[in-house]
Amino acid sequence: MTLTWTLLLAPLAPVLLAAAAAFALGVGVGQAKRQAGWALLRGAEAAVLLVLGAFLARAFVAWLLSLAVHPERAGFVLGWAFLLWPGLLDTLPVLSGSQWLTTPDRLLNIVTAVGAGVGFMNGLWGIHGPLGVLTFPLNVTWGLGGNTNGLLLHLINVTWGNHSDETRREAHRYASGFRIKSHYAFTQGSVMSNTSPALFGHEFVHVLQNLVVGPFFVLSYAAWMALLFIPGLVAGNLSKNGGVADGIEGYCYDGNPWEAMGYAVGGSHSPRVALGTAWTVTLAALLAAAFGLLVWRVVLPWGWT
Ligand SMILES: [Zn+2]
Repeated sequence: MTLTWTLLLAPLAPVLLAAAAAFALGVGVGQAKRQAGWALLRGAEAAVLLVLGAFLARAFVAWLLSLAVHPERAGFVLGWAFLLWPGLLDTLPVLSGSQWLTTPDRLLNIVTAVGAGVGFMNGLWGIHGPLGVLTFPLNVTWGLGGNTNGLLLHLINVTWGNHSDETRREAHRYASGFRIKSHYAFTQGSVMSNTSPALFGHEFVHVLQNLVVGPFFVLSYAAWMALLFIPGLVAGNLSKNGGVADGIEGYCYDGNPWEAMGYAVGGSHSPRVALGTAWTVTLAALLAAAFGLLVWRVVLPWGWT
């Protein structure tokens, strides 16, 4: 796949149409909230970031595809890394010799739509301040996997999530909305769900983790939970302090190094069944090594060399 202006700008017409709709919607929302002076800014920001999000995301993935020796294989890997769901849904088809969502053309269309959606929402709610010069491009490129889930959170939360009106904080905060447990916040990409102001600090650590480590954050968080599920279950069963559910929560959640960092910044949490620091550090190092090996020995040779 060669990187050309024709390839990059192919969806220009639909993106501009969507931007016009985003402007109208932004002004409408601004006026409904009686922010007369701000309604135009809201509309303009939603439209501009929609266009930027669409083309930054598209250019990023097109560039990675242009470096690939096997663009189809690379498309599958990029579908996992930067959109999660197309990769996951395509895993069985790819293993059985066909490819559905992650062919280079389809992947580029999906990534353009997701980048546009993230840009639109970030502009509509005015989440970016001066740091946005750095964080916005990261949100729609390196950190797009987490933000794909974030976009899904927006869809789930749109009617009942109660999006806060605070702006320029580099994150969306829904006071209510999707949650795993009633008193637990849930953050994906730059979208915090079921998050009270007091939990902002902890959740913002997850926003930063996604921007810094990108696909490795989302995938290693999930891998940790999957790998520690059975050990947690067993530990909970053997423990005198808690049951099976406490063991799973203590090992998969509290013992998760990404959570340990969050609690180090935003307050403490004492699990009934704890994994312990020594195990957390050792397993984190092993998991990081496994991811490094996977990228070096499997992913890069499979698509790019
Ligand atoms: Zn957390």
